[in-house]
Amino acid sequence: RSAAHFARTVRSEISYVMVKPDGVQRGLVGEIIGRFERKGFKLKALQMRKCTREIAEEHYKDLKQKPFFKDLVDYILSGPVVAMVWEGDGVVASARKIIGATNPLNAEPGTIRGDLCIQTGRNVVHGSDSPDNGERETGLWFQGDASVEWSQTIQPWLTE
Ligand code: UDP
Ligand code: MG
Repeated sequence: RSAAHFARTVRSEISYVMVKPDGVQRGLVGEIIGRFERKGFKLKALQMRKCTREIAEEHYKDLKQKPFFKDLVDYILSGPVVAMVWEGDGVVASARKIIGATNPLNAEPGTIRGDLCIQTGRNVVHGSDSPDNGERETGLWFQGDASVEWSQTIQPWLTE
C-alpha cells in the first residue's frame, strides 16, 4: 500500500519530517518531535534509521544540479536520522512555519531552526515543501506499510 493511496483514503494531508544527523547527535530529537506533538498534529509513522545514498539522492533530487548537492547528501548520510510522518489539515505549510527558514540566521525565533541552529548546512530538520512531496517523501522513506492507523482520542479537543 503506497503512501499516496494511504493519504487519499484518509483524505488528509501528510508531511514527511526528519530530524537530520546533527539534530540526532545534538540530542534534539525529543525537542523537535515535541513541537509537532504539542501543536496537535497526528504522528503516523516514526523510525530511526541510517539511510542509503540512493534514498538521500532521491529525496533531494530537485537539488541535484546545486553546488552543495554532494555535501548535502554526505551530511544526510553522516549519521542516523529520525524519520516521521505527521498528518493533519494544513500540516505541510504549518510544519514549514514550525521549522523556519532554510538559513537558520534568517529563521524567526520560536521556530526550530531559529531557536536551535546557526548554519544552512547544519539546520537540524527537514519538512516537505508541498502535499505532493509529503506523499512522495513518505513513500520513499516508509516503504510498505509503516504508517499506523490509530484514532487520536483528543481529536474533538483539537478540531470542531
Ligand atoms: N542546503 C545547503 N546549502 C544551501 C541550500 C540548502 O546546504 O545553500 C541544504 C540545507 O540542509 C537545506 C537542504 O539543503 O535544508 C534542502 O534545501 P531546501 O532549499 O529544500 O531547504 P529546506 O526545504 O530544507 O528549507
Ligand atoms: Mg526543501
